[in-house]
Amino acid sequence: MSPNPTVKIKYHSLAPIGDSSMKKKKKVLFLIVILVVFIWILGIFSRSSESDLELGEDSLRAMLIQTQEELRISRQQMLHYEQMLTSSCVDQINAYHGNDQVPTIYVITPTYARPVQKAELTRLSHTFMLVPKLHWIIVEDATNKTELVANLLKESNINHTHLHALTPDQYKLKKKDGHWKKPRGVQQRNAALDWLRLFRSSDNDKGIVYFADDDNSYSLKLFSEMRRVKRVGVWPVGLVGGLKVEKSLVNAQGKVIGFNSMWAPQRPFPIDMAGFAINLDLINRNENVKFSFDVDRGYQESAILSKVVTSLSQLEPLADNCTKVYVWHTRTIDPTFAYEAVLKKKHMAPSDLGMEV
Ligand code: UDP
Ligand code: MN
Repeated sequence: MSPNPTVKIKYHSLAPIGDSSMKKKKKVLFLIVILVVFIWILGIFSRSSESDLELGEDSLRAMLIQTQEELRISRQQMLHYEQMLTSSCVDQINAYHGNDQVPTIYVITPTYARPVQKAELTRLSHTFMLVPKLHWIIVEDATNKTELVANLLKESNINHTHLHALTPDQYKLKKKDGHWKKPRGVQQRNAALDWLRLFRSSDNDKGIVYFADDDNSYSLKLFSEMRRVKRVGVWPVGLVGGLKVEKSLVNAQGKVIGFNSMWAPQRPFPIDMAGFAINLDLINRNENVKFSFDVDRGYQESAILSKVVTSLSQLEPLADNCTKVYVWHTRTIDPTFAYEAVLKKKHMAPSDLGMEV
């Protein structure tokens, strides 16, 4: 039996035709798939970049809102500070400077070297910097004026006089003494009063004299009040004499009729040093207006006030008829430096080596 060539040929010729069309179809299918995948990927990309953009816009908008809010708060704070300054200081400075009728406030501060001195004087100077027409007479209880105080005064830019007057040894507080044991600030306040008598005259200089210890706390309002003193002004002092506030008692007519003091109430003027100011004129006209080491404990204020007023009715009650507290007799504790000794024991440098604290 011979094989049928036609069939054979037919068979062989048909097979390649079917193969190539399949391949074409596959190719087309493949291209379509590729195209679909490409379009799909393109879609994803365009969508994701859109959402990226949306996300970017959202966070930008949030940042903008946040910044706007911060700016609004800053603006409010600035306005607040401006108002504070305008009411407490700038207006007064503008009105006061160059106005001879406005008295200068001479603040007399005795001070002595100790670890907290720079902190106390910094606090004090930052209050005084805000008071117009203030002249700070700072008197160091020392044999010399120190760099520390001189630099502090220079930096503060406050009108000032820098003096020194050493407390005589027999009156100097010793380490073991209670702080009440001996009078403090006597020599220094007197040195300042002497300076005023030498360099200020009653005829040309209007002034108010105030004794401001370096450790008390002072409101700016106190200085506005004392600027009005004619002879001797008085006001309450917080945190003193075993009371929350020591104050003059004032009657309905606005006259001082007594005091609320509990400690040594028999004193003629049981008022703390921070609770009064005296017109410069009275000091300049009377050499005897000064402090003394020979007065009983707690009588310094009474001794000096007795020289400038003869009756309670001459006292001018300030701070809303002695109903407001604008000064506090704060006391700063002496810090201990236990670990400085440890450093020394270990032959290490003290913590403040080369620094002013
Ligand atoms: N003062 C001074 N030398 C001293 C002790 C105190 O110059 O040895 C100053 C002190 O710096 C302050 C004033 O005198 O300005 C009153 O002293 P302190 O504050 O200790 O008195 P207190 O608070 O007990 O009334
Ligand atoms: Mn004090």
